[in-house]
Amino acid sequence: MPSVYFQTFGCQMNAADSDAVRALLSGRGFELCGSPADSDLIVVNTCSVREAAERRAKSRIAEFAGGKKARAGQRLWVIGCMAERLGDKLKEEIPGVDLGAGAKQMERSGEAVEAHFPKGGAYVGINANGGCDVSGVERLSPPLFSKAAVTGFVPVMRGCDNYCAYCVVPYVRGNERSVPYEAIESTVKEKVGSGVKEITFLGQNVNSYNHGGIDFPELLSRMAGISGLERIRFTTSHPKDCTERLVGVVASSQKFASHIHLPVQAGSDRILALMNRKYTAESYRSLLDMIRTRLPRADITSDIMVGFPTESDAEFRETLELVRCARFTTAFMFAYSPRAGTAAASMEEGISKAEKMARLSELIALQTGITREIYDKTVGEELEVLVTERQQKRDLAWMGQDAGCKRVLISCEGLAAGTILKVKAVRSSGMTLIAEC
Ligand code: SF4
Repeated sequence: MPSVYFQTFGCQMNAADSDAVRALLSGRGFELCGSPADSDLIVVNTCSVREAAERRAKSRIAEFAGGKKARAGQRLWVIGCMAERLGDKLKEEIPGVDLGAGAKQMERSGEAVEAHFPKGGAYVGINANGGCDVSGVERLSPPLFSKAAVTGFVPVMRGCDNYCAYCVVPYVRGNERSVPYEAIESTVKEKVGSGVKEITFLGQNVNSYNHGGIDFPELLSRMAGISGLERIRFTTSHPKDCTERLVGVVASSQKFASHIHLPVQAGSDRILALMNRKYTAESYRSLLDMIRTRLPRADITSDIMVGFPTESDAEFRETLELVRCARFTTAFMFAYSPRAGTAAASMEEGISKAEKMARLSELIALQTGITREIYDKTVGEELEVLVTERQQKRDLAWMGQDAGCKRVLISCEGLAAGTILKVKAVRSSGMTLIAEC
């Protein structure tokens, strides 16, 4: 059988896209391979959202391209956002890439696979050396390739119309388009039928989902009725589309995780306007109040950026103040880096790299302290945990996630991935809760 090795960079949408391409390839007889050197096809799914992510992907692709000589007929595919952004330049920059398929083409990945590997074809040149080391497959990121996956991703919309000034996503993923309801429903039912207990609905701007008169709150309400689906999550929500009706739906059923990821990015109104975020710090705070009234135990998480062009020290301190008040359970924090083609790329930055890094360290220290306090405060509480995977380093230890977004380590006998059980949190490591049955 021909074999394929996947390397996926970036967000959960990329993980879902890789999963879809893997399914198409496995329908053509490909088996997963744990070692790039032994595989007939290498697929690298790339991220473009930050410069560092592109650098990492390029260096890995160059490594794979350099290793192709050692395996006759090996092919190298690069898909995703960086492939979209670079277009034909990708093959010029890294000779050895056989196919560059951008993120906008992901809905047509079936056609690309069919063009290269027609159903029933002999795949000439593929598998010239035979044999594939599968020993590393377990190490590939779950739930992608885990046979016992109990969690799954389902993209419900793609692209974005928001054009935040710093963000390359609308350019590389295109405008918003929502998946028809029937396709979502059948994908969810198929996943649930294969043992998946928890689905995360994905979209760059998931709460702007709208297809055939069904909006996101309506989609979620319908999904909650699917039998066998135990837990529902979604990401990423834009604050401007996070309505009381949506939060009401989340509060209406225990099936919804008590977790909302709501990127704030900055705490200064001037910076938020420059970013084109379409809300103010005050309206964001009101939104948090509304969510906490409806969902008092909810984990709220966020994305926060420091060092946007012209951000002053006083404006950065407004971000710190908002973070202090918001008490996010966790946050992705990063320093601004310009992305070619975006509105912010043509702005004068006016902040040194050292200053950006100092601000980032200060923000991380503040948020880490808040995260620790929230985890510590949970000790003694009863949690409902979905067990997701065995913890490799310890006997009898399993990892799971509570009904919010907290990681939980459970040590007890007789567990299996997919079990949902009530446990008591007995200790906190600041980023993980340790629980007993
Ligand atoms: S909402 Fe803004 S940050 Fe998010 S994907 Fe769209 S443009 Fe990018």
